[in-house]
Amino acid sequence: MSDDMVDCHCHIDQFPNPSAVAREAERRQIHTVAVTNLPSHYQLGCPHLKDFKYVHLALGMHPLAVKNRFSEIGLFQSLASGADFIGEVGLDFSPEGKASKTKQIECFRMVLTCVRDRQRFVTVHSRGAASEVLDFLDEFCVSPVIFHWFTDADAILRRAIEQGHFFSVNHAMTQSKSGRNIISQIPPERLLTETDGPHVRVGRSVARPVDVTTLNATLATILKLDAAKVDDFTTNNFKRILSTVRKNGIQ
Ligand SMILES: [Zn+2]
Repeated sequence: MSDDMVDCHCHIDQFPNPSAVAREAERRQIHTVAVTNLPSHYQLGCPHLKDFKYVHLALGMHPLAVKNRFSEIGLFQSLASGADFIGEVGLDFSPEGKASKTKQIECFRMVLTCVRDRQRFVTVHSRGAASEVLDFLDEFCVSPVIFHWFTDADAILRRAIEQGHFFSVNHAMTQSKSGRNIISQIPPERLLTETDGPHVRVGRSVARPVDVTTLNATLATILKLDAAKVDDFTTNNFKRILSTVRKNGIQ
């Protein structure tokens, strides 16, 4: 039923059967950004996804992976020039990430150095650190990026909007008051959808790219629009970003 929808942030490689999830997204024509947590994971996924039209593998260096795998930054640096999709990258200063704050900053600066040369699709993690993420994006002139699962204060959200960034929202956000508050403040021309599968559940199952269908229906209720309209503008936003990536890309 669904056609031409968008899942901007899904950890396909963390499902028990990644190929089946990728094939299903491809078959249903869901534009999916398959994020990775480490460049070695990206390297492993590349041969599997090279012929996919809708599923795009992203080169990642997750902030919480930096603590033990900072050594992979060299691999990130060597793969970055060929990657149009970047993520998951960013900073995490929540209790879970606090101890590795200094290392994360060092790593994120190196990541931004690698991706500042041209426009890419960059999906960013910013838990407890959105203000710092914005500062670094500014310093390195990397814009626009896509803030995945934004959870920070309204004032910081407004700053991110003013700076031209995009936001991908997921099913978990629609289930909380604070999430719905964030969703309602995002201008439609900056809104994108994501599942963050398998980390987010829809009902009793883990979210797969096909679940953007239900997500869009829920968003339509929150935004008081009809679901077809939500499909339209999220897909248009995705294609608009993609066209700038392709234009500047080294095809
Ligand atoms: Zn994620």
